[in-house]
Amino acid sequence: MKSRWSEDDARKHADDPLAMRVYTSRLLGADENLVMHGGGNTSVKITETDFFDDPVDVLYVKGSGWDLKTIEKAGFAPLRLEPTRRLATLDTLSDLNMARLLRSFLLDPGAPSPSVEAILHAIVPARFVDHTHADAVVTLTNNPGGEAIIAELYPDCLVLPYVMPGFVLSKQVADAICDVDLSAIKGIILLHHGVFTFSDDARIAYENMIELVDRADQLIAERVKSPHPERELAVEPLELARIRRAVSLARKRPQLAMLDRSPSAQGYASRADVASIATRGPITPDHVIRTKRIPVIIPESPGQDVPEVDAFVRAYEEYFREHASPAQTMLDPAPRAAVWLNKGCIAFGSSQQECEIIADIARHTRWAVQTGEALGGWQALSPAEIFELEYWSLEQAKLAKSRATQPVHQGKVAIVTGAHSGIGRATCEALAADGAAVVGLDKHSDVVDSLAEQGLVGIQCDVTDTEAVRNAIEQTILTFGGLDIIVCNAGIFRSGERIEELSEQTWDQTLAVNLTSAQRFMTAAIPYLKLGCDASILIVGSRNVHAPGPAAAAYSVSKAALTQLARIAALELAGDGIRVNIVHPDAVFDTGVWTDEALKRSAERYGMTVEQYKTKNLLKKEINARQVAQMLSTIAGPVFASTTGAQIPIDGGDVRVI
Ligand code: ZN
Repeated sequence: MKSRWSEDDARKHADDPLAMRVYTSRLLGADENLVMHGGGNTSVKITETDFFDDPVDVLYVKGSGWDLKTIEKAGFAPLRLEPTRRLATLDTLSDLNMARLLRSFLLDPGAPSPSVEAILHAIVPARFVDHTHADAVVTLTNNPGGEAIIAELYPDCLVLPYVMPGFVLSKQVADAICDVDLSAIKGIILLHHGVFTFSDDARIAYENMIELVDRADQLIAERVKSPHPERELAVEPLELARIRRAVSLARKRPQLAMLDRSPSAQGYASRADVASIATRGPITPDHVIRTKRIPVIIPESPGQDVPEVDAFVRAYEEYFREHASPAQTMLDPAPRAAVWLNKGCIAFGSSQQECEIIADIARHTRWAVQTGEALGGWQALSPAEIFELEYWSLEQAKLAKSRATQPVHQGKVAIVTGAHSGIGRATCEALAADGAAVVGLDKHSDVVDSLAEQGLVGIQCDVTDTEAVRNAIEQTILTFGGLDIIVCNAGIFRSGERIEELSEQTWDQTLAVNLTSAQRFMTAAIPYLKLGCDASILIVGSRNVHAPGPAAAAYSVSKAALTQLARIAALELAGDGIRVNIVHPDAVFDTGVWTDEALKRSAERYGMTVEQYKTKNLLKKEINARQVAQMLSTIAGPVFASTTGAQIPIDGGDVRVI
């Protein structure tokens, strides 16, 4: 591990200790092996003047909800140092009281809530205090010989046994340092938890951290020769969809299942001893709120209902019964991570972001577990100690904050065809805004870049190429774990040819894109939809189905046949809980099928101006792609949970349809 300190960068902050604090906090945050996803915390003590110009000692400590990687000045909570420090002299202090008192010591009531380690930062007299959960150091402590290894490696540090973070830890450190000359030691090692370093000089505090962690890295490099196998193995998407379904049922809401098939994940999943080493516990207890204590182990060929998930749930309920006090309520018992034997590691979550956090933690965990195993046997804290943190009121409060009401499609997966523009594009956005992970297919390669945000993926795919569609569906499953919603939207519109002059090309192409591709797409998607959560097939029809016009035979016939296909699908799939519904839009002009030319021609045919033509419906409304998209998303949601086989117009009211 190398120091990232840059004299040039640091010089800019020489006269501003809080800016310097931001700078070295980000240096720590830049290394995932030191801190991850909001872990770790830092502080600086500064004497300032208050409103009355009186001097006041302030502890700027990391606020909760901030990440060291991206922290700014506003991410530090300014606490009055003196009363914060005094809290460590109390005999007991409940977590909730600690949080309340700390908030009352803030100089800025709008500041974020101070870190739960604020008291510890206050009692260490040094100006800059740095704290990380460095993988390498914690890994060394997680094996039977761990304490001896640490004692030998860190003779110049204070080494303390594990206690709960927060007030208890502050008391432990306060007692331990009262007769220690802190200027004579390099840091404090907290077994199973992390490292504290400190100095009046920001660089020394930071570089002591790097040096201490580097010692652990070196020792591991010497003693552990490549303990981490790598493999590349094939995966059957239907089996992954089954696992995802079982976990969604256990959590009682749709979950994404993101499979990590990297060589290191597959190597871990193919170890003969993985079921044993992966289920001994997390690297540090604070991971438990994201990952639960252990992952579920899934056999290489999971059965139809994946009974291992159910067994995991029962074991979790047992763990809760064994450790809970009467006032505690059980969290949902579903697993957050899986080791799928010989296949890889899976992260389960309601969003791509949640899955990615879990996958990051899982990646660090498997490094630590295999390293610890090679050092003499991976050993985590006891289930009782993990439980105490999992059900710690302060951690529960953090989770409650992030568990605001969920959008209707949260955790669902959708595929939309014709996703580059118009109704398709708007539908991708509407479903994503309602919480779904969305894959958009389009023959335009631009779709790849235009749908590249969190939870949105674009795949270039000609929907008339059945093989390409199958591949896109498999890719969707391998990315998000399952499939719940498909939107058959891709379509072309050619008008101006009456039947007597209709070209074979117009007829054949229109039927191929508007009808046959939808059938092939449905046929390939149905096995996955049967494993989906409240699965829905949405068909974009046309007002033309019920009110055709002249010179658009191929289009009207294709949409009428598509409607019939959807009605039959509704009959066939109701038994599997899959709903099939059709919307019939009309006069949606902000789409790819309407060129200015086609619009003018159609207006002329009706003897209207383009403006009149656009609103030639009973309600005199202009309809846009966004409205159609929102209707589609709503039909896939709970409002329409009891509706299948329906044909719903969105046309401003058409006298011929009514
Ligand atoms: Zn910590």
